[in-house]
Amino acid sequence: MHSAELTPNAGASSGMVPLNRARLANVISVDVEDYFHAESFVDIVSRDRWDSYETRVVDNTRRLLDLFAELNLEATFFTLGWVAERFPQLIRDIAAGGHELACHSYWHRLIYKLDPKEFRDDTYRAKQTIEQTAGVQIFGYRAPTYSIVTSSLWATDILAEMGFTYDSSIFPIYHERYGIPGAPRFPFVLKTKSGPLIEYPIATFRIRGETNFPFGGGGYLRLLPWWYNRMGLNRAEAEGLPVIAYIHPWEIDPEQPRLPGRLNSRLRHYTNLGKTYTRLARMLRRGNFTSFRKSGLASLAQATDPNTWGKNGSR
Ligand SMILES: [Zn+2]
Repeated sequence: MHSAELTPNAGASSGMVPLNRARLANVISVDVEDYFHAESFVDIVSRDRWDSYETRVVDNTRRLLDLFAELNLEATFFTLGWVAERFPQLIRDIAAGGHELACHSYWHRLIYKLDPKEFRDDTYRAKQTIEQTAGVQIFGYRAPTYSIVTSSLWATDILAEMGFTYDSSIFPIYHERYGIPGAPRFPFVLKTKSGPLIEYPIATFRIRGETNFPFGGGGYLRLLPWWYNRMGLNRAEAEGLPVIAYIHPWEIDPEQPRLPGRLNSRLRHYTNLGKTYTRLARMLRRGNFTSFRKSGLASLAQATDPNTWGKNGSR
């Protein structure tokens, strides 16, 4: 009786994982910004007054650092240049904690509202600030509010030209403010004018047909029920899709000051702030979450041409 139980355990205790059970890595990323940077409040919070708001980003990011340390995982922190400039110790502590730093712009503006020069200047300032603060080189970019869309794909040429090797700004869904619903759902390589750029699309699942449903990150993890997100995780695993997940530090902070935005902005921003930390921990405890640089997913990315992307998407 005992010997029959010992056989399968022997492999596990020696750390061997059968090849056919090896799973792809998932990625957990943090967009390091404060509650008043969110696009939901852009009509009532002007950028020249950011310094007048009570700041919460340091404490909230430290709570995430503690959670990741407890779970023994490495994450990618897409950091706002504005935050790096004001809170250099936080940025150094993220790097010292063994995590990957990456870029989330300087001013958190929608890329499709910028011209190429404005985008280049903003990205350069953010990259320089983060790199000089932490003393590391960074390779990843995430656009504010996922604003690399069909009309702003030109930005990927500039990213490659500036030395970025990957981007995670394309959300293959329909949304009022962002999304390229026809973009691939699996990591892919964009051929830009300045060389290849790996793109990691944010997690989606399909039920049947070609509609992509977002899950596992930000407002989708926070606002939609846990069963929905769990279904997404299960389907991704069954499909062999790496889950690219993200969180904002303010999403785990129920005590943050309330801003007088429009009703739908307030509903979107303030619902379930008290539940998100637990949900995030629950998702991460399923295992296999790490940073982009450690994920090994770059080697799986396949070249694709945006001109061939379907209206409703493809793998
Ligand atoms: Zn952001």
